[in-house]
Amino acid sequence: MTAINGTWRNWARTESVTPVRVERPTTIGAVQRAVVGAARAGLRVKAVGAGHSFTAIAVATGVLLDLDDLTGIVGVDRDRGRVTLLAGTRLFQLPKLLRPHGLALANMGDIDRQSISGAISTGTHGTGTAFGGIATQVVGLTLVTADGELLRIDEEENSELLPAAALGLGALGVIVEVTLQCVPAFVLEAVERPIPMNEVLEAIDDHVDGSDHFEFYWFPGTGTAVTKTNTRADGSVARRPLPAAQSFVDDTLMANGVYRVTCAVGAVIPAVVPTVNRLAERLWSNRDFSDHSHEVFVAKRTVRFREMEYAIPAADVPEVLRAIDDLIQERGWRISFPVEVRFAAADDLWLSTATGRATGYIAVHRYFRENHTEYFEAVEEIMNQHAGRPHWGKLHTQDAASLAQLYPRHGDFAALRDRLDPERRFTNAYLDRVLGA
Ligand SMILES: Cc1cc2nc3c(=O)[nH]c(=O)nc-3n(C[C@H](O)[C@H](O)[C@H](O)COP(=O)(O)OP(=O)(O)OC[C@H]3O[C@@H](n4cnc5c(N)ncnc54)[C@H](O)[C@@H]3O)c2cc1C
Repeated sequence: MTAINGTWRNWARTESVTPVRVERPTTIGAVQRAVVGAARAGLRVKAVGAGHSFTAIAVATGVLLDLDDLTGIVGVDRDRGRVTLLAGTRLFQLPKLLRPHGLALANMGDIDRQSISGAISTGTHGTGTAFGGIATQVVGLTLVTADGELLRIDEEENSELLPAAALGLGALGVIVEVTLQCVPAFVLEAVERPIPMNEVLEAIDDHVDGSDHFEFYWFPGTGTAVTKTNTRADGSVARRPLPAAQSFVDDTLMANGVYRVTCAVGAVIPAVVPTVNRLAERLWSNRDFSDHSHEVFVAKRTVRFREMEYAIPAADVPEVLRAIDDLIQERGWRISFPVEVRFAAADDLWLSTATGRATGYIAVHRYFRENHTEYFEAVEEIMNQHAGRPHWGKLHTQDAASLAQLYPRHGDFAALRDRLDPERRFTNAYLDRVLGA
């Protein structure tokens, strides 16, 4: 989150707002008072995390609740490997917090800047055909509801609400505590290889089902997929981390620094983009290393971009990628950012993009100084033909009517929102669009 002169901006610079006021509660009681105070003043109230959503989901026009002072561990259940965190805790704080307890998150996405509450509320996910997104690791949470009361939701209390509240878009109340089911700390063995795209697509099931965490990046205009295959190993095995110097050169100087310059040039001179893509393809390939899970899951992203990501049936991934390739060639577009492809297990969270089906995720990106609209809208049309569900935190044009067709429990979620937030204390324009006013 960036606040300059009281104006909040998201990371991608797609949204900004000057809220009526910003509150930074340091206790759960202060969150309750902030919600009651907002109601008395007739204002809406919204908790924001790290502002890493590309959509307007976190835009707070009334009271913006900044939970950066509400962080850390509340309690640990060592027998069950569960940890309860305050809602503003950032993912990058977790390794240090979990290490003394020998625990780790079962799976993570590409970065760790997000707050735990923001990450679960939008369905943030990584890759791995046997693994769900971070919200599937939630076994309990505590909400401050619209009347300022605390509502505990877990296996013992209000358990029927957990599949809705664990991934609630910030629409049901302010999360103040999150209980996560963790796993024993583990090591990931990483193998990164460039492989011809056709070979990857022809053997996609072998890649996806034959490994714990498989994903690939495809730079449009090249026939190569940069594959990443991560295998889980016991936390006690010897690690072969990337030397600090190589990590700095690979991730900071090359993958981000050189890339920043070439993207900027590509935005002005599109003809250089294919060369840039071939360079990027080489920079990101051919590494073998192993390290603590979070060091392997997470990368740095310092070049700003815009993103749209759709969840489709996993079996449709090859067909959709070929359609995107045809589209880009037909239109003659020069796209400097890769298409990212990931996988996840089916889950039963009402608004999860993977609800009820084994899922493939396809994400398209554009450098933030380029116009993304035409590319994203054309790709979105392809996704629509495959019952694609958009990531709640990434750009898309769906609304409540179209989303109701895609989520069997969309109506149930809307009814729960009516019950918990009848006056729409927690809404904003984005939530009204995707859930109904
Ligand atoms: C560079 C980059 C990389 C990314 N990589 C991935 C990835 O690998 N996988 C993936 O799935 N996504 C990814 N994302 C998307 C990102 O994970 C989500 O948008 C996530 O929500 C951002 O978390 P945040 O803390 O910034 O939340 P915000 O964007 O600040 O908020 C998101 C939502 O959560 C709500 N919220 C926040 N805190 C609370 C609370 N305490 N109570 C109730 N509601 C709350 C907000 O009101 C809002 O509705 C990426 C985004 C960026 C910019």
